[in-house]
Amino acid sequence: MIPAQFDYVRPAALHEALQILVDRQGDAKILSGGYSLLPLLKLRLASPALLVDIRDIDGLDDIVETTNGLRIGGRATHRQIHENPVVIAGYPLLVDAAGGIGDPQVRNWGTIGGSCAHADPSSDWPAVLIATNASIVLHSVSGSRTVPARGFFLDTFQTAIEPTELLTEVIIPRAPRPSGAAYAKLERRAGDFATVGVAAQLSLGADGRISAAGIGLTAVAEAPFAATGAEAALVGHEPNEATFQAAGIAAAAESRPGTDSHGPIEYKRAMVKEMVVRALRSAATRAQAQR
Ligand SMILES: Cc1cc2nc3c(=O)[nH]c(=O)nc-3n(C[C@H](O)[C@H](O)[C@H](O)COP(=O)(O)OP(=O)(O)OC[C@H]3O[C@@H](n4cnc5c(N)ncnc54)[C@H](O)[C@@H]3O)c2cc1C
Repeated sequence: MIPAQFDYVRPAALHEALQILVDRQGDAKILSGGYSLLPLLKLRLASPALLVDIRDIDGLDDIVETTNGLRIGGRATHRQIHENPVVIAGYPLLVDAAGGIGDPQVRNWGTIGGSCAHADPSSDWPAVLIATNASIVLHSVSGSRTVPARGFFLDTFQTAIEPTELLTEVIIPRAPRPSGAAYAKLERRAGDFATVGVAAQLSLGADGRISAAGIGLTAVAEAPFAATGAEAALVGHEPNEATFQAAGIAAAAESRPGTDSHGPIEYKRAMVKEMVVRALRSAATRAQAQR
């Protein structure tokens, strides 16, 4: 189908884009990579009167490490994240996740901000941001606010973003050493959305036990979520197979998958357990390497 008619603007500055969102409240949509929005327009599931293309806004695709952690601009593409030297050196979880998103075309165009704002329940980034206790920075004409990833993804395609806000960056805190994190994605074919996606992060204490854990799950509930039962099953325990199995069982019990073309509920729960265990094994190996 052909999209309904719309106007198009390409502001050069953040404040211009934010003002447009206020002036055109309700009938303007931000255009980032367009890989989710354009299909919606073509299917006429969305018909905004104005698209606000943010590609010319300086600094929106920066990726920098600061004392607060890694700051990734909302307009950074999956490919920019995947190929960034700082990310490769210190954030292997992000490399895992970015490299498994769609195909090269999707990774060239799709952005982390677009992915989070769109909030497809099968997207990969939300699980990563939840597991790492990341924050999401939103700007509007009246200033900025920071929302924890754990409180950002409210429901299917629903987030904490207000219509006049723009997602400018995500901040991923640097985990204390020794820590390790990994992403495990089950997909039917390479490039598909996840059947199950698991982001896991572990920190180890001086006694070698797990001192902190983050588990984010995608595609197995109405929205990505923190598997807090699985996290509780990890903290205070040795990072061994028995602990990982217990966390996998807890995560499977917490998940709320539906039956669809990816498989029935029982299969998905079994796959949650398996993918949690796999992500934890990799995360623990990476953590041990930092000791
Ligand atoms: C064939 C295909 C395969 C894919 N496979 C995967 C996959 O395996 N895993 C995965 O996670 N994703 C996958 N995706 C999704 C893709 O990776 C993009 O992340 C996603 O399409 C949204 O990012 P975008 O930059 O294209 O956003 P857009 O399509 O431009 O925008 C999406 C929505 O977010 C809003 N928005 C965009 N940027 C902002 C911002 N900065 N602030 C506020 N609101 C904003 C827009 O207004 C719109 O409502 C796939 C997409 C396709 C088409």
